[in-house]
Amino acid sequence: MILKDMNGFDFEKFDKSIAILAVGSVERHGDHLPLGTDSELPEYIACRVAEELHILVLPTVYYGSCHAMRNFPGTFDIDSDVFYRYVECIMEEAWRNGIKLLVVLNGHGGNTTPLQMAARQVANRTGLAITVIDWWKDLGKSKQYLFTSPGHAGEDETSAMLAIAEDKVNIYLAGRHEVAYPEIKVYSRKIDERLYEVALTGDSKKATKQKGEELLGAAIEDLLKTIDHLRRTLEI
Ligand SMILES: [Zn+2]
Repeated sequence: MILKDMNGFDFEKFDKSIAILAVGSVERHGDHLPLGTDSELPEYIACRVAEELHILVLPTVYYGSCHAMRNFPGTFDIDSDVFYRYVECIMEEAWRNGIKLLVVLNGHGGNTTPLQMAARQVANRTGLAITVIDWWKDLGKSKQYLFTSPGHAGEDETSAMLAIAEDKVNIYLAGRHEVAYPEIKVYSRKIDERLYEVALTGDSKKATKQKGEELLGAAIEDLLKTIDHLRRTLEI
């Protein structure tokens, strides 16, 4: 059930033990993908999974922390501490409203650390169990072989967007910018500037709708299994 579309009467009666919260960004994705890509993809996965399991989908958090893409028109970068505090409040309110397990489905790399910090704090203070899933890394791993040139607005993300909203992708503007990511995560503006010379990594021209459908299908399956596992572990 989609929380923003429910009335209070139905909300009170609904089994609220498990909810999914999609979190993304408003961020430049090459020239060819919508600025809301990182929100739309996890929201799609969340809705499909919730439909199957009859669980709640909380309204998506569209704005995220986007330091690396800050200089590209179309990016709205929210300070990490503001973002952290905001998602922390959402998690606390989820608990106060009767949710026992919150599945945070993240679509944007810059959000991962503040989301995990908030999850740790709130889980420590309340009875809420929280998992933070970076969908593009943690789900659909069995289909990652399909993509030889993934990345930010790259082959994988573009394929996924073609699968869910082909009309929002301008494939004629798809580009290629292949870069090597450092093997170990380094926080460095110099490295970010080198990696994100343009707001694209990988080869988006290799994207196809079919590859996107396969990836998302596997991601949905994996999330169903993860929730089932957590539900049994937590006895919810
Ligand atoms: Zn993205």
